[in-house]
Amino acid sequence: MRILLTNDDGIFAEGLQALTQEIKKIAETYVVAPDHEQSATGHAITMHRPLRAEKVRYSHSPEVPAWAVNGTPADCVKLAVEALLPQRPDLVISGINRGANLGTDVLYSGTVSAAIEGVILGIPAIAVSLAEYHNPDYTYAAYFVARLAQQHCRHNTKKDLLLNVNVPNLKPEEIKGVAICPLGVRQYKNAFAKRKDPRGREYYWLAGELVDLEENEDTDVAAIKEGKITITPIQPDLTDFAFLEELKEWKIKL
Ligand code: MN
Repeated sequence: MRILLTNDDGIFAEGLQALTQEIKKIAETYVVAPDHEQSATGHAITMHRPLRAEKVRYSHSPEVPAWAVNGTPADCVKLAVEALLPQRPDLVISGINRGANLGTDVLYSGTVSAAIEGVILGIPAIAVSLAEYHNPDYTYAAYFVARLAQQHCRHNTKKDLLLNVNVPNLKPEEIKGVAICPLGVRQYKNAFAKRKDPRGREYYWLAGELVDLEENEDTDVAAIKEGKITITPIQPDLTDFAFLEELKEWKIKL
């Protein structure tokens, strides 16, 4: 099995390094990741300046080919598959992100977008995030994802399978189980802090605290709070199939 690793926290982020150390035990491993943090860049790609890929050496894994790219997570996956890797990977894993990617937040996530790029290129993918920002311990999440990647391979899964995984920042014995569940809803209140700059002009800074409006108990947002690992199969097709037929009934004319 050949696995491409990437992330949005940057090539030297702890989560990606922990992941590399586990994945290299089970697969031929390559790392192509942004040269600096690209969190919340969504599915952006770089079109108006050149991309450069610089070879990087992880001291803990000098045998793993790794490149730092001056682009977005989606750029990294595209460039890896189309230009850098000697052969196509069988699986793309993006992460381990510092902080959860739950519910509607996946739309902003560079971590998830890198995984989506894998699927767009016909390679199944896993996005993995640790639900902790301040004191992350990636050890168990890395171990868990390596097992999941092996299972993924055994099931010989469909080429467009995309799993969004969130792991609570708990000791393995404290984790309450694995929830296979849909995405929930995440909303933030007081999203912008309004301040004044030294010249007296107003500016806005995106801040905001999370408010939990999620009432449905069968979602990733609810399950992570219960101390469970969440796994959601997602897809890049945004079509609202439920409404497609009704919209035809509008009989929109030229
Ligand atoms: Mn990130």
